[in-house]
Amino acid sequence: MCVRRLIAAPLVLTAASLSCATGPGDTRTYLLSLRDQVAAQVCQGRSLEATLAQLLTPHQEDYGRPYLVGVPGREKFARDDRAFAAQVRAAYQQLTAEPTAPPNDGKPRAIALIGDHYHPPGLIRPPIEAAMKPAGVTTDFLYDVTKLTAAALKHYRLLIILRDGMNWSDPAANRPQWWMTDSQEQAIIAFVRAGGGILALHNANALKPWAEKENPAPILRVLGSQYDSHGAPREGYRVRVLAKDHPVTRGIADFTATGEHHRPRPLATDMVRLLESTAEGETCLAGYVRTEGKGRVAYLAFGHNREVLELPDVQRLLANSARWCCGVNASGDPP
Ligand SMILES: [Zn+2]
Repeated sequence: MCVRRLIAAPLVLTAASLSCATGPGDTRTYLLSLRDQVAAQVCQGRSLEATLAQLLTPHQEDYGRPYLVGVPGREKFARDDRAFAAQVRAAYQQLTAEPTAPPNDGKPRAIALIGDHYHPPGLIRPPIEAAMKPAGVTTDFLYDVTKLTAAALKHYRLLIILRDGMNWSDPAANRPQWWMTDSQEQAIIAFVRAGGGILALHNANALKPWAEKENPAPILRVLGSQYDSHGAPREGYRVRVLAKDHPVTRGIADFTATGEHHRPRPLATDMVRLLESTAEGETCLAGYVRTEGKGRVAYLAFGHNREVLELPDVQRLLANSARWCCGVNASGDPP
């Protein structure tokens, strides 16, 4: 896509446009930034109007890390606010469209629900893409929580989740809304019991309110743990491998990481504990697997920032977990 065409018309974020290398060197960077910035609004449940208002006036936000809300380089690719708004509108419509059935090539395929108020999806998607490639798991990304349905899940073998259960649809109101409906919760549970896999990351065990400690939501029981609390955004912690011969942890030695140290509260008694993490003398569960019906669930506590997801050991844990959840080994065959 040449720049003149990009400026003249609302762009469409096709695979072809995102892999485009015919324009100036930063055309693809601009398109990816536009996608990720619109996605950061969509994943909070925001309307097109709220998304436009946020992105037309660039500003810094701070969720334990500085984060620019806005699309750098827009003056080069959109001649004025009106043209930029048309690009934002096109990206928003694409990211909130009804999902279409992916091609069925017989290979494991994942749908990844990522991004929330505290975790911009643009920081999460690249390391997940990087980990799923060697795992042989083709991954589609979903930002609009309303599109997570039984009909959408039936095309996939694996559901990856790195987000919590809260939408912040009104940027001016400091009040979130719980988004998961009963039918969505039942669809996810039915998906895994019928043989699907779930790779739950970081704060996915906060998909439902965690204050109800004595009566956790069914989805949290299936995931096997409930969010409890976490440490500072950039806290260092030591990760220890508890089960060295499990397919998820095979080849992983103890390592250190920096990020938000999560303290999940275990719910399932049938889990296989794989990893624990220690910060400030406090040791927490950091990774486990369990089965649910015919399906498999893996949880890894990592995921607050891009850096922790890009650690070689975490990349390998993500790939191994995806393969284990899909019931395939390193060569792509059933174990
Ligand atoms: Zn976090």
